[in-house]
Amino acid sequence: MPISESMVQDIVQEVMAKMQIADAPTGKHGIFADMNDAIAAAKKAQKTVRVMSMDQREKMITVIRKKTKENAEILARMAVDETGMGNVGDKILKHHLVAEKTPGTEDIKTEALSGDRGLTLVEMGPFGVIGAITPCTNPSETVICNAIGMLAGGNTVVFNPHPAAIKTTIYAINMINEASLEVGGPDNVACTVETPTMETSAVMMKHKDIPLIAATGGPGVVTAVLSSGKRGIGAGAGNPPALVDETADIRKAAQDIVNGCTFDNNLPCIAEKEIVAVDCVVDELLHYMVEEQGCYVIDKAQQDQLTAVVLPNGKLSRKCVGRSAKVLLGMIGVTVPDNIRCITFEGEMEHPLIATELMMPILGIVRAKDFEDAVEKAVWLEHGNRHSAHIHSKNVDRITTYARAIDTAILVKNGPSYAALGFGGESICTFTIASRTGEGLTSASTFTKRRRCVMQDSLCIR
Ligand code: NAD
Repeated sequence: MPISESMVQDIVQEVMAKMQIADAPTGKHGIFADMNDAIAAAKKAQKTVRVMSMDQREKMITVIRKKTKENAEILARMAVDETGMGNVGDKILKHHLVAEKTPGTEDIKTEALSGDRGLTLVEMGPFGVIGAITPCTNPSETVICNAIGMLAGGNTVVFNPHPAAIKTTIYAINMINEASLEVGGPDNVACTVETPTMETSAVMMKHKDIPLIAATGGPGVVTAVLSSGKRGIGAGAGNPPALVDETADIRKAAQDIVNGCTFDNNLPCIAEKEIVAVDCVVDELLHYMVEEQGCYVIDKAQQDQLTAVVLPNGKLSRKCVGRSAKVLLGMIGVTVPDNIRCITFEGEMEHPLIATELMMPILGIVRAKDFEDAVEKAVWLEHGNRHSAHIHSKNVDRITTYARAIDTAILVKNGPSYAALGFGGESICTFTIASRTGEGLTSASTFTKRRRCVMQDSLCIR
């Protein structure tokens, strides 16, 4: 095949970007060989952060935001290189989103009660050093998002990241500490270990100086944290269904669902993982998905081949997570043009490519006989995670029925899933959605504890 000029330009750009990564500063602020040392350093730093004014904390967060934007492309490329998951363009957008929409100190509010017997304030104070466990699907986004919220609350943080994303995580943690140093704050406001393992995680979970653990990941880690005897914030797995009924704008639903599903190759836990559509709209929906949204329909034999590749022996293959539709189809010998961005087919809800949380752009469609049947199927597919669900309908009563039945932390109506993270929707950004423990979209106030400060018989001037 002859190499076109645009291909040469793409290759040059790629090489330049890789050289930029190689040249990037590889400072090691906050990085330790031993978990106990990391916790001790974060504890020392917290003594300083604790007494920093809100204004000083906000200045530190402002520099973290600025550095995140400046390093968005480097972090995006590093994560794709290291984990093999996702795509650089969307990861850059995710870093800008974290930088711009993760709440800072403004999220921490004081409640006041006053009356004949005086004045009471309920103030939100830090926990101390928080232990945070982070996934490989959004590695630096989660680290930066957690750090902004935790530091705003006056805490410092020790991370036990996914080992498959350690280089990217170290880069992000170093950047956060450089931001703190730049505004006169302490080093080690965020720490980690060079080689995170289950053992370093266990040290963190049992450590006397860690009062709170925030776990972002699959069911295993959330269960481990909730069994640790410490207070835990559990942001676990999802399998968000997108329900479509006959009142929806079907063309727009196809666009929103495929856009949400394919964002960063379906890595976000909130992303549409399957569709449940009422019988009378399935064909129209599929038509728009194929004709206008770059979906490729696979037949029964291809579904079986893909199931064998994606779920060998029923276990999710990490080699497939976060890969593009084109790459996944290539794995079963199907060559498609670059504009194919999603794989689809109609199947029963029990189909393994539909019922399993895959985190790749495979979007099975389940046909329901009517709205009630669709709700029942969507609730089953969400598996009681209570994480995220989506609906395309113009009937408010039906939306209410669905919302009550599925009972998720996030429910997006008539939009792509990422609207829930503030990307084209009215929302804050977070990459830690505490579905299992009920905090929902975590932010600075989630990482603080309530304190009551009572003045008896004075300071009420009503
Ligand atoms: P994962 O569960 O394999 O790993 C997540 C983190 O937990 C990693 O740091 C890993 O090392 C650690 N871990 C795993 N099992 C553990 C155990 N038993 N004890 C201690 N630590 C353990 O998940 P992943 O592949 O990195 O990420 C994808 C999963 O995370 C998906 O299920 C996705 O839905 C979920 N997720 C949830 C949220 C949310 O906000 N709710 C956000 C992102 C990802």
